[in-house]
Amino acid sequence: MTMFDKIALIGIGLIGSSIALGVRQNNLAKHISIATRKQSTLDEAKELNLGDSYFLDSKKAVIDADLIILCTPVGTFENITKYIAPFIKRGAILTDVGSVKAYVQDKLLPLIPAGVHFIPAHPMAGTEFSGPKAGFASLFTGRWCMLTPDENVSEDAVKILSEFWQNLGSNVEIMDAQHHDLVVAITSHVPHLIAYNIVGTASELEDVAKSEVIKYSAGGFRDFTRIAASDPIMWRDVFLTNRDAVLEMLEKFLRDLAKLQRAVEIGDGDMLEKLFTRTRAIRRSIIEAGQEVDAPDFGRKK
Ligand code: NAP
Repeated sequence: MTMFDKIALIGIGLIGSSIALGVRQNNLAKHISIATRKQSTLDEAKELNLGDSYFLDSKKAVIDADLIILCTPVGTFENITKYIAPFIKRGAILTDVGSVKAYVQDKLLPLIPAGVHFIPAHPMAGTEFSGPKAGFASLFTGRWCMLTPDENVSEDAVKILSEFWQNLGSNVEIMDAQHHDLVVAITSHVPHLIAYNIVGTASELEDVAKSEVIKYSAGGFRDFTRIAASDPIMWRDVFLTNRDAVLEMLEKFLRDLAKLQRAVEIGDGDMLEKLFTRTRAIRRSIIEAGQEVDAPDFGRKK
């Protein structure tokens, strides 16, 4: 069922292109307009036939759009919104896909013109790849999309945006922006920081050669490298804009790491075994919840 006459995607990387493909596949819009910063990215989007009209000037893309989705790094949202706001038609929904929500709400809410429905959103789906070629229509299938609407926003608009994400295959959850940021701090942001750190530490070791780290990476290290290969700009912005929640969770993490360090130091096998048993059960719960496949070694072919 066509939901919108025109959808505008501002930014056409992994998330923007996956939305474009999902919209096409499910026939959710009659027209997709695409705006991005670089000519080379726009050309790639055109080659992939991701949209119907293409612009380097984002204001041209949003004219007459019923749904506008910001798909650029979080740090760009404020300036882009300031720039496009006067060109958004009354009654349109403006949303985003940023990985942080309280910052987005604080910065963007004051910029929203009267009659425009602003609903922050975060599809909890992604890969370590970037750019228009990285997208695929099934990226959101079975994944959660969190919406964090302000209490004054129209319930009908929230319903429409929920339906949109459901039509892309997502499960939708409505959540308070601050709570969202705490949840993703522990499920996504701190794990990325740990991965960036362990890969960084390993690459700077003096007593183990870098070539050995790479050669023997299957011992566990390589699983961290997938996360640590994620887009540097996107993740820089995540840590700049979700500082408080990340620091709160990082403090808890460091406290627990110190306990583990002590257990290793004094040889507390009971403590180690109990924790490792508990964490194994968590992996099983993730598989049971359909958020991971039940395949050894992430289903890698030998
Ligand atoms: P991406 O593949 O790197 O694509 C980013 C897009 O934003 C490109 O079209 C890029 O255009 C454009 N862009 C970058 N800087 C810009 C600027 N200063 N002004 C205007 N446009 C700019 O990124 P992505 O992975 O799709 O992430 C996009 C958003 O999704 C981020 O807010 C991120 O937090 C969120 N998100 C990502 C994931 C994930 O796993 N990747 C998951 C959920 C949510 P040019 O190439 O033309 O510069």
